[in-house]
Amino acid sequence: MAAEDKTKKPPHVLLFPFPSQGHINPLIQFAKRLISKGVKTTLITTIFVSNSILSNHSHNTIPIVSISDGFDVGGFATAGSSEIYLESFREVGSKSLADVIRKFHSEGTTIDAIVYDSFINWTLDVAMEFGIDGGAFLTQACAVNNIYYQVYKGILSIPADSTVSVPGLPELEYWETPSFVQNPGPYPAWSHIVFNQFSNFDQTRWVFSNTFYKLEEEVIEWMKTLWPLRVIGPTIPSMYLDRRLQYDNDYGVNLIKPNHNECMEWLNDKPKGSVVYVAFGSYGELVPEQMEEVAWGLKDSDLNFLWVVRASEEEKLPKGFVDRETKKGLVVAWCRQLKVLSHEAVGCFVTHCGFNSSLEAVSLGVPVIAMPQWTDQITNAKCLEDIWGVGIRVKRDEKGIVKRVNLVSGIKAIMDGEQGVVARRNAKKWRDLTKEAVAEGGSSDKDIDVFVSDLNRSRLRS
Ligand code: UDP
Repeated sequence: MAAEDKTKKPPHVLLFPFPSQGHINPLIQFAKRLISKGVKTTLITTIFVSNSILSNHSHNTIPIVSISDGFDVGGFATAGSSEIYLESFREVGSKSLADVIRKFHSEGTTIDAIVYDSFINWTLDVAMEFGIDGGAFLTQACAVNNIYYQVYKGILSIPADSTVSVPGLPELEYWETPSFVQNPGPYPAWSHIVFNQFSNFDQTRWVFSNTFYKLEEEVIEWMKTLWPLRVIGPTIPSMYLDRRLQYDNDYGVNLIKPNHNECMEWLNDKPKGSVVYVAFGSYGELVPEQMEEVAWGLKDSDLNFLWVVRASEEEKLPKGFVDRETKKGLVVAWCRQLKVLSHEAVGCFVTHCGFNSSLEAVSLGVPVIAMPQWTDQITNAKCLEDIWGVGIRVKRDEKGIVKRVNLVSGIKAIMDGEQGVVARRNAKKWRDLTKEAVAEGGSSDKDIDVFVSDLNRSRLRS
């Protein structure tokens, strides 16, 4: 094909997230940004996730191609254990992905790059088999990735010592490091995944992260000395930030059906800044005692609250807790979290500190009450309180439980106290900085442009 003709055809990128809500959202947003810059994108996901998206009436406009992970009917929940699921995903998923690539090629559709979640780094082996360039996408904070990298390189030994020093971060207490660093024992398959994300970074052409430069400047500078890191976040729909992409007002993919209208009607009726929004993400589970303490803590706070309790968690709610008569509290199975966080009635966010939820709070200027449970959430909570200054961590007892009295005092401190004033001020500052990062010519925007230029250059050379 003549060089002239090649420039007419847009580059084509496959995006392959780990199949869970918190990993799909950032990759979907990256896809939208690439599409807006003239790149053709296709989302690869599992058959189970693809069916869940369809059955939850999501408004996704990005083409999806499904592969098998070996659990087409029930997904991860039916695998029996993380070990079984992750092994099957690697085995069956690699073959199924190779079949998809062959099919594209047989139809005359070229693939210029595969950007894959670094949790599934076996994707790079498949890409290289077909001579396709790979890009690893880190969906967690660079602070966390840097700690994992130090473990991977054997610089940081686990379980961690009483204090931990890594480049680009203030000294951390042992209990502020990710749970797998504190104790790698209970979840060996996940520990293996997070520590070994970097094992083939020397063969990958790009490394992306959904953070943004100002948020993690020092640690990003350090990581840039290791790999060709591109920071393209925050991966939040454009209409919440720079409003450049008019159609981009939602992630567009829900694996659980949101109770959207119910949430909005309830919120519309509440005074400005009066509601405590509570959510613990898409897959984390609270132990029954913790669930009970949260429930009674919310009641005891005597404030309005909106609490997301997934159907699988519902039976842990205390009997008679959901009392719709008072109108003070609403419990829903799922919501459109961005719509809720950006509603003027919401005054604070009690969060498990998943990285998407953390970025959403920071980007929308909502102060947080951090209740991390495990994995990266613990270090994200440290960043939210001590580094970004947008909230507080609530005190736990010796069993790791946040008792109702501590939750109530955390809520009061943010809703009515001086700590809330400071957190709100910082949250607003970060909201403005996120807008700048993604706006045309902002740091994240430039990193996306570099990637697109790389793709166009490779296309002309091939
Ligand atoms: N989320 C949502 N509705 C809910 C709860 C969560 O849309 O009721 C979204 C939230 O906006 C975020 C994602 O689900 O984008 C959860 O990702 P996060 O990294 O915070 O946590 P994870 O689910 O991975 O633990």
